[in-house]
Amino acid sequence: MNSTLPPAPDADSGPAAPAAAATFVPPPEAVVAAPFDQLALPAPVLANLTRLGYHLMTPIQAASLPVALAGHDLIAQAKTGSGKTAAFALPLLQRLDARSFAVQALVMCPTRELAEQVTQEIRRIARAEDNIKILTLCGGTPIRPQADSLAHGAHVVVGTPGRLMDHISRGSLKLDALATLVLDEADRMLDMGFFDDIAYVAKACPRNRQTLLFSATYPEGVVRLARQFMRQPQEIALTGQHEADKIRQRFFEVAADQRLQAVGLLLRHYRPESTLAFCNTKQQCRDLIDVLHAEGFHVLALHGELDQRDRDQVMVQFANRSCSVLVATDVAARGLDIAKLEAVINVDVTPDPEVHVHRIGRTGRADENGWALSLVAPYEKKRVTNIAQTNGFEPVWESIAELQAEVQAPLVPPMVTLQILGGRKEKIRPGDVLGALTGEAGFNASQIGKINVNEQSTYVAVERSIARQALKRLSEGKIKGKKVRVFLLDE
Ligand code: ADP
Ligand code: MG
Repeated sequence: MNSTLPPAPDADSGPAAPAAAATFVPPPEAVVAAPFDQLALPAPVLANLTRLGYHLMTPIQAASLPVALAGHDLIAQAKTGSGKTAAFALPLLQRLDARSFAVQALVMCPTRELAEQVTQEIRRIARAEDNIKILTLCGGTPIRPQADSLAHGAHVVVGTPGRLMDHISRGSLKLDALATLVLDEADRMLDMGFFDDIAYVAKACPRNRQTLLFSATYPEGVVRLARQFMRQPQEIALTGQHEADKIRQRFFEVAADQRLQAVGLLLRHYRPESTLAFCNTKQQCRDLIDVLHAEGFHVLALHGELDQRDRDQVMVQFANRSCSVLVATDVAARGLDIAKLEAVINVDVTPDPEVHVHRIGRTGRADENGWALSLVAPYEKKRVTNIAQTNGFEPVWESIAELQAEVQAPLVPPMVTLQILGGRKEKIRPGDVLGALTGEAGFNASQIGKINVNEQSTYVAVERSIARQALKRLSEGKIKGKKVRVFLLDE
């Protein structure tokens, strides 16, 4: 019994016998439509998933959840945006004992940004259960306050390898009670030179833990990690040929000096609610921002020169629908989870087919379709041929001139973000902000969007039409009994 893992076993059938490593590729039709209630999960957990809008498992979830919930070690390979976080969050939460304040699950991520995203996703999924404490431990912030938080107890820790190693060596992070170790984006952690740090952390974990490894690719380093730190892992590879169908690719030939204007035309023709436009350089990012601003677009840039706080702000505004276009370099956009991206625009064609696939893989997430629009200067046409050959498709060309006939005004994002100075440190919760806006201030909950509470700031999206009023009311009122300073973030 080593290769016949059922994609969606009956909840009562119990764990399969530990199997030798075997690659199991479920047929897509067998896994795409599986509902979560096929899993042996408590009713409140299922209800919470429904509330989150998770009705059907994604293919990687359908393939890996039965294995991971049964307690096996697992290597799961699937592309970005395929829902890997829930595939490990649900199993690790099922094994927690909320009454014990020892660290029982540890998730390693390559960057702070990813660690925060994973933390947030685990928090959402954990909402169904008792008070589960989840702590993020990453570099770039002082270590002492983190050690203090650890001393107060946490059930789940999410962090970057270097900082986790520091805490283990200082004795502030104890792993004796660890039940689940997760290596998220293992390939990227290895790219970033974290092999030894990961090894150090893994060695500090009890032997009889469960180890779950997630990766978009399967390089040699991952095999080494698995050999050293996993016990008879089951392997699931979903490289997702069928998912490519959800991405509609179009190529447009443009003169090199018309590129930036052409981006504006694409945006005004397709009018996507969320677009990520890839530039090759920071300078091109800046130039594109200038052109789009001048045309009246709400657009923000993500590039390597932004400090962490600015990056967070940009990501919040993009995710809460206050900004519909994000301009980024490949480096800056690596690994970001941007849900529901309607379009990706390649401002120029990258020479590397793998980078191209990675870029366009960010659109057409979950159940949605997406556009991948590439602008091609005459000298880049060979690159398109190469990309098409490597990935086995026939490129569809369209003409910019024809689009021009059907352009509309730039799309105005439906929301605006208000920044409140004060966050987790001040113990602000989303409910406090929602309460302040819907209570005395008199707004309707339907006018309020996403609320993100960060360490020192809270961001709330409100409908554009009430932005100024909401700013005024929040500034005049109180949150948690205190006056707060509020700013309108609108580029
Ligand atoms: P990955 O880690 O594979 O890149 P994520 O776990 O970040 O992917 O998930 C990508 C997005 O899909 C997230 O916004 C997440 O909330 C959403 N998502 C995950 N699973 C489901 C599901 N079963 N149904 C709907 N949305 C989902
Ligand atoms: Mg992920």
